[in-house]
Amino acid sequence: MKYYINAYGCQMNVHDAEIISGILESEGFSSIEDHESADIILLVSCAVREHAETRVLGRLSQLGGGWRGRKSGKPLMVLCGCVAQEHGDSLLERFRDLDLVVGPDCYRDLPRLIRASERISAVDFREGDYTGIEPARMDFPRAYVTIMRGCDNFCSYCIVPYVRGREYSRKNDSILSEIERLSESGYGEITLLGQNVNSYRDGETSFPQLLRSVALSAPGSWIRFVTSHPKDLGNETVRVMASEQNICRYFHLPFQSGSDAVLKMMNRGYTAREYLERIGMLREAMPDIVLSTDVIAGFPGESEEDFQKTVDLLEEVRFDNAFLFKYSERSGTAACSLENSIPEEQRLARLNHLQKLQRIITVEESGKLLGRILRVLITGPAKKPRQQASRTEGNRMVILENTDFSPGSFVNVKITRADGWTHFGEPCGNLKS
Ligand code: SF4
Repeated sequence: MKYYINAYGCQMNVHDAEIISGILESEGFSSIEDHESADIILLVSCAVREHAETRVLGRLSQLGGGWRGRKSGKPLMVLCGCVAQEHGDSLLERFRDLDLVVGPDCYRDLPRLIRASERISAVDFREGDYTGIEPARMDFPRAYVTIMRGCDNFCSYCIVPYVRGREYSRKNDSILSEIERLSESGYGEITLLGQNVNSYRDGETSFPQLLRSVALSAPGSWIRFVTSHPKDLGNETVRVMASEQNICRYFHLPFQSGSDAVLKMMNRGYTAREYLERIGMLREAMPDIVLSTDVIAGFPGESEEDFQKTVDLLEEVRFDNAFLFKYSERSGTAACSLENSIPEEQRLARLNHLQKLQRIITVEESGKLLGRILRVLITGPAKKPRQQASRTEGNRMVILENTDFSPGSFVNVKITRADGWTHFGEPCGNLKS
């Protein structure tokens, strides 16, 4: 049977799609790029923001309604991921063409559920991970490796602990053997994934210890990790990053709000001052580090003064890139019962303000790279013909024109143009900047 799979949302979901594909392919199913010819259509959904959930449910309706003209008849429709976990059975009532609803802990059951061809939802929480499954990787030369699943933090706006369950760290030796295989297969970039990687623990092994072992096991690959939580980021992780040359000088550290009052309502567990101390620690150890963050505008009770503190923090740190969102209610989370909800247009106005400010900062910071020579990893073709895409250690996209490097090669390029987070460059042999 042929299956088509599409993932929405974060890298964790993209990697879940690779795990699902690995499970299906080990049972004889084969993947196909065209959903029109597929026997099975799987969507891997994201519930973190209302917009992402609406998008995947819209796609489900569209694909569900679109099969009637097909010669091959109705495909088996499967919704996986966080939206499946969140809504379970009720989705089967709502979408008549949907056959299976499968939460993140039940992917191992997919081949059996597909063959049984019953309309059912499988959304139990189970201990464990997907050790032993060889993910069907879709993004060579970039690979993702899950080091932990779930989250215990219960930030008041976030649905993840409810749909992904409690925090569970994967065994250190299973992670390292996967890393060694990836490195031997020529993956140039390996990203360690978890909702809160800094709280990883397997027996005596903490996150910084794991990070060092990973770096030493894959000396020819760049190592990244997401996501970090400011309250759990300690000196040791920073020391390991600074001492191991193949750990990328890039750090994604969400701050969410610059106001201590809002951070408290968000249950984030740090103050703006403590956040800035973490940034100071990173920049002191690695002056050339590239920084990005996540911010929420319009959280319930956020006053103009609170919002101004977020603006001030964005201006003070001058992140190279930022993922900015307006607050989105997720039912069942603690923030939903907070008073003083901010009207939608005010959330949007605040978001626009942050976007304009960050765009200026990103353009200014990117502009500083003009004429610099950077090492990039060739990732594959770019959108336009005769262009190749690549990434710097700082995760900036660099487009090369009229080049023909193999994906997975490391190349030195001179930056000739910058357009926000996207840059253009030309190959160059010398790495002095
Ligand atoms: S740390 Fe907070 S925001 Fe991140 S997944 Fe856990 S609860 Fe959600």
